[in-house]
Amino acid sequence: MRSKSIHNFSAGPGTMAKEVIEATEKAINNFWNGVSILEISHRTKEWIKVMKETKRMMKEVMDIPEGYEIIFLGGGASLQFLMVAMNLMNKKACYLDTGIWASKAIKEAENIGEVKIIGTSKDKNYTYIPEYQIPSDYDYFHITTNNTIYGTEIREDIESPIPLVADMSSDILSRPIDISKYSLIYASAQKNCGAAGVTIIIIKKEILGKVNRKIPTILDYQVHILNDSMYNTPPVISIFTVNQTLKYIKKLGGLEKIKQLNEEKARLLYAEIDRNKIFKTTVLKKDRSIMNVCFVMEDHYNQLENDFSEYAFQNGIIGIKGHRSVGGFRASIYNAVTIDSVHALIKCMRDFEQLHIH
Ligand SMILES: *Cc1c(COP(=O)(O)O)cnc(C)c1O
Repeated sequence: MRSKSIHNFSAGPGTMAKEVIEATEKAINNFWNGVSILEISHRTKEWIKVMKETKRMMKEVMDIPEGYEIIFLGGGASLQFLMVAMNLMNKKACYLDTGIWASKAIKEAENIGEVKIIGTSKDKNYTYIPEYQIPSDYDYFHITTNNTIYGTEIREDIESPIPLVADMSSDILSRPIDISKYSLIYASAQKNCGAAGVTIIIIKKEILGKVNRKIPTILDYQVHILNDSMYNTPPVISIFTVNQTLKYIKKLGGLEKIKQLNEEKARLLYAEIDRNKIFKTTVLKKDRSIMNVCFVMEDHYNQLENDFSEYAFQNGIIGIKGHRSVGGFRASIYNAVTIDSVHALIKCMRDFEQLHIH
């Protein structure tokens, strides 16, 4: 069992709830009749029950309306960069460039058709969400709702005149969303849903079957829908962790409650960054993410960066190193990161300030 004094702010794979890890441990030892979940066929009725239940809970927790399908696939969000374009782009699509993940999605789409970038924040190393105008004659508009590396987030469900596609890998299940505004949502599990291995895809059925190209079988959403996500062997253990995460969210009181908790954690941490004389954030205030809190040292204190890393580590704080393309620090405060962990980080920042400013 994880030591109580460790506070994990890893960006992904990220912290998972203790309950989820315990339930998974149990299933590894004995899923059914002494058989481990690692050695059971995905065609058994015991497993199919878990698949069905996971889908049902997903629908319930995210309030997914009729007309949408949910599938669970391997290959990560990165495979979706390609599958989205393959399945939805007839000729041209538009994209919002808000960072490395968005750029990777753009790169894959460019191999399939014409891509128009309708906004980019590259000029300031993606520290804000750019302005944009959505044209009405494109096949879809692709956004990344939460930019894991830079700590920016689109936190409202935007209106789009064309089908809206969203990579929600690092903020799915962090707040209630209006699914009806989206045509396709995808998210790999390892940030906010469970263990690495599975990607959750929510698709409005009516947008499929409209492209002229021949889609390779394994990349065809319709094939996976038809086969209930079991065209080939699904990532069984990761789906199990998603199942347990959904149970945990339900027990906590659902996404409205989760949102309140997340906003409170983010509020406390940003307040400390704004107050503390050693730290600052370069992220535009209105675009600050409630999932990944990025911060750096005030120029004057830059030489203390390694000292702070070491100091934080001594205090049980792990996973706060910023992405190599940004530097500084990043505290990922996904659903499963407790408010106690946030308080521990804040205390550490305060104590560090005390040590260095007299
Ligand atoms: C982590 C991440 C990805 C990549 O996910 P993989 O599962 O590693 O392919 C894509 N988009 C966003 C927003 C992410 O945070």
